[in-house]
Parts: sequence; structure tokens; C-alpha cells
Amino acid sequence: TRVLLSGGSGFIAAHVLDILLEHGHSVVTTVRSQGKADKIKEAHPDIGEDKLSFAIVEDIAVEGAFDEAVKSDPPFEAVIHTASPFHFNVTDIQKQLLDPAVVGTTGILKSIKKHAPEVKRVVITSSFAAIVNPSKGLWPGHTYSEEDWSPLTQEEALESPMAGYRASKTFAEKAAWEFLEKEKPNFKIATINPPLVFGPIVHYLNSLDSLNTSNQRIRNYMQGKAKDEPVPTGVYLWVDVRDVALAHVKAMELPEAANKRFFVTAGHFSNREIVEAISKNFPDLKDGLPTEFKKGVDDYPEEGFYSYDNSRSREILGLKFRSIEECVTDTVKSLQAVGA
Ligand code: NDP
Repeated sequence: TRVLLSGGSGFIAAHVLDILLEHGHSVVTTVRSQGKADKIKEAHPDIGEDKLSFAIVEDIAVEGAFDEAVKSDPPFEAVIHTASPFHFNVTDIQKQLLDPAVVGTTGILKSIKKHAPEVKRVVITSSFAAIVNPSKGLWPGHTYSEEDWSPLTQEEALESPMAGYRASKTFAEKAAWEFLEKEKPNFKIATINPPLVFGPIVHYLNSLDSLNTSNQRIRNYMQGKAKDEPVPTGVYLWVDVRDVALAHVKAMELPEAANKRFFVTAGHFSNREIVEAISKNFPDLKDGLPTEFKKGVDDYPEEGFYSYDNSRSREILGLKFRSIEECVTDTVKSLQAVGA
């Protein structure tokens, strides 16, 4: 399949790219600069131009940003849209989080409809952020699944960068389903909704200082920065980046995945389990790790909390989820390879 992958320099997208190439697909990926394209190309020396090439899209929030990138000869049959801001250092939530997420998503769908009529499937990276109801807190007894939708409003979105990020994913995914309903394009969509994603980074794009948001806590533990003060787990659900990446590719390849959301989670975790996995597999790092844990902060809450249903991802996409120990071990190794 000829595929357009947006945001190919991202943590998750780098793994999506590798699985697409392994499965024999031909990929054009968008990046924001030629420098990033060159780095990705250098890291894949055996892959020819027919299998991997690049399009520059500097800012997905600009109207029509994807108009040129979606044109290709031979034409694209599928698109995987991952690009979206995931960080909290913003001063303008509307401009820096909401606009790129929402305009980025509706923009790529509009460009496909206008200029790429052969596209049959669009897979969009959404998030557990578009599922979770933050006002319910731990919600003991509730089972989160694809049926749940975040109720965040525009007003709440502007309250904090965290709310802004969650709302950006919620509004973007809603906009995609609305587009499908109103515009009746030639393509079907699928959304991938992961909670916290951990996993190995690709060495060619990363440094310890410019690490993607979700892996930062593992780096901080490794560096002894979280020894004395318990770090909030935040969301007690996680998934390995390699499983998330495979979910994207399967959702593109499988006819049965059409027009569905996929809640891809390996299950529960707490920061204590991350620490224990590091401590067990990297005895040299033990000195910098916390030895005491606090229930409801870096350990599971005593009063119970939400459950999850990942059966759709297992049954339709055929996912088998990696364990937190395997994930943390491989993540630490990948961070050590860039100097941690
Ligand atoms: P990264 O920060 O590594 O990737 C984000 C990607 O989006 C980068 O390639 C970035 O480019 C690109 N991007 C952001 N803003 C713009 C913009 N305005 N114009 C063009 N490109 C832009 O994070 P992840 O890989 O973790 O995130 C990928 C997707 O996964 C996002 O949609 C995120 O919401 C989602 N997600 C991530 C989770 C996680 O725990 N990691 C959990 C759930 C969902 P550049 O680096 O060049 O700025």
C-alpha cells in the first residue's frame, strides 16, 4: 500500500514508519524540516526512494497545509495522521495545542478529499485523553472502553495546559468523526486511542533533553531526579509504543477496522512498577531510585479505581501487549544509547 504518514519524526510515528516498511508498504512521511528528513533517511540506508520519501509540512495548523503532501504518483491509498502537539510548555493553549490538533486533523481530511480520491483508509492517532472523564477521578467500578467520550468543553480546555492537551485530542477526534458524517468522503477512518505510551526511542532523532513527553518520567528516574519526592502516576493505564505502532498499521491494513475507535492499552501500571523494573534489570541505577512509595501517588490507590476493556484491540487488530518490565527495560537501554 502507498501510505502518507504525518509527523514521521515523532516518538510514536518513528515506530509506525518502521513497521510500515517491514510490512512492505511504500511510505511518504511529512516532517517539519529537511534536517529531520535527512536524519530519517540516513537511519534507513537500505531503503530505496520508492519505499521511503519525504514531504515538508512545517505547520499543520495552517489551512491547506497538506494540500501538496497528499498528492503522489502513484497515488496514496492510505493516510496515517499522527502529528499533533504533545507537551505542556505552552503560553497560548488555543494557538499552540487546540489549533494544531483540530485544524491539523480537519485539514488533512479536507486535503485528502480534495486531492487524493484514491485514499480508502485514514488512521488517526487520538488518545485516551478523548475517552477519559477527568471529573470522575478514580471512578472505582467504571470500565473505560471505546464507548466513553471525554466531556471536556472549550471553556475547560483553556484552564490549564493539561486540560488543553486533553481537549485538543478530544476536539480533534470529534471533528474527524463529524467530517466523515457530513462530508461523506471516499475513505473510512479508524482512530487509535492509547493512554500513556512508553517505550524505546529511536536514537537518530533524540537527545536526552528533547525527549518526548511520556518517556520523561523514565529518564528522570534513571537520572536520580525522582528519588525523594513521589511522582504522581497520573493515569494508571499504559501501553508500549511498539504495540501502539502495530495498532496503527493493522488499523490501516484490515478491512474490519473501518470506522472504529481502538482503545489500545496493555492495562494498569503505577510508577512503582517502573521503578521496580529499572531496579531489577539495572542494578547500577538502584542508588538513584526511590525506595518508598505512596498509595494513590506513585503506587496504586487504596480505594480502587477504573478498569479497562481492551478486547476490541485484541480481537480485531490481533494485538498482544508487551509487559511493563519488557517495555521499561528496552526504554532504559535506548536512553542509555543516547547517553543517559
Ligand atoms: P512527539 O512529540 O514525539 O510527536 C509529535 C509529532 O507531531 C512530532 O513529529 C511533531 O513534530 C509533530 N507536530 C506537533 N505539532 C506540529 C505542528 N504544529 N506542525 C507540524 N508538526 C507538528 O509525541 P508522540 O509521538 O508521543 O505523539 C504522537 C501522537 O500520539 C500525538 O497525536 C499525541 O497526541 C498522541 N498520543 C501520545 C501519547 C503518549 O503517551 N506519548 C498518548 C496518547 C496519544 P516536531 O517534533 O518536529 O515538532
